[in-house]
Amino acid sequence: MMIGRGRALVTAAWWVAAASQLAAAQRATPQPPPRHDTEILMLGTAGGPPLRADRSEPATLLIVDGRPYLVDCGIGTARRLAQAGVPSQTIGAIFFTHLHADHALGLSAVLADAFGNRDKQDAVRPLAIYGPPQTRALVDAAWNYIRIPYAVHAAEQGTASGGLPARNPFAAHEIDSGIVYSDSLIRVLAVENSHYRLMPAAARAVMKSYSYRIETPHGVVVFTGDTGPSDAVARLARGADVLVAQVGDSAQSSRFANRTADQNHWSPERRKQFLAHFTDELLDFRGVGEIASAAHVGAILLYHMNPPDPAAYVAGVQAHFAGPVFAGADLDRYCLTASAVERASGAAKFGRCGQREPSHSGVQ
Ligand SMILES: [Zn+2]
Repeated sequence: MMIGRGRALVTAAWWVAAASQLAAAQRATPQPPPRHDTEILMLGTAGGPPLRADRSEPATLLIVDGRPYLVDCGIGTARRLAQAGVPSQTIGAIFFTHLHADHALGLSAVLADAFGNRDKQDAVRPLAIYGPPQTRALVDAAWNYIRIPYAVHAAEQGTASGGLPARNPFAAHEIDSGIVYSDSLIRVLAVENSHYRLMPAAARAVMKSYSYRIETPHGVVVFTGDTGPSDAVARLARGADVLVAQVGDSAQSSRFANRTADQNHWSPERRKQFLAHFTDELLDFRGVGEIASAAHVGAILLYHMNPPDPAAYVAGVQAHFAGPVFAGADLDRYCLTASAVERASGAAKFGRCGQREPSHSGVQ
């Protein structure tokens, strides 16, 4: 934005007037009734990197009684939040399962958007970010990235600091296994999963990958994050209403691994290692179904996938799990409700929002 000082002051005055008009309009507009449900809004459902045209990188919003919590934050998350009509500054907390590029590199855009909107009426509270070791460094790096462009805006407004905080306004919390968060709506438990199983021990001492169990007033949602087969994850998921699960097709994965090894002339040892990443550190159809069956979860919601045909993925997992299986796509909304009236009428507890018919299942 290149504007002169005088014009900047006019622009600033216009902005203040426009913002107060907007606030007055919001006060006059009847607010929607308070919500009493838990919604899972799929913001990004791709496995990555690299970026894809049809699916954004992994990010899922859990909206509990209207308050949004974000699990992972791949590239494209800020755009998907805007498309879904969820202001970034209303997010209660962000939880990183792990810090692989596809799960973490959208953070600066979400924080920048929240920071840019910090004075808007619907701001809830400062955004806190929870994740494995190195989350603090990631959040600090994001803030340093954000503050340089915002310092330009501040300079245009003719103030030295321009209201920019001297310190990072975002709070980072590096977590361990156990209860990592609770507030009046949710409780979050984490366990270390097997996504980094083959990582050298020295690196694994500082790099962790977690699965999360989030308990809400309407039921329990477990996020596998990225993981291989894991008894710890099966225990974490015990009795959950929904398992939001990363999934891959093992045949497709091994073709990809072998093709990559061929193209790069890898040694047999390196090829074997790469193949093992898909079998030991990620879940395929059987892996997802076995964890869900062992844990007796109510339903599976698949994501973190690049399926040529989502129905084939649902069928693949259904061969290993007797309950409903859904294939998530970007901007899909799933609802979990504990309404006694609905339960009495035989409606399923979980399904696409507004479409929870009795014994509902299959590709959505
Ligand atoms: Zn991933």
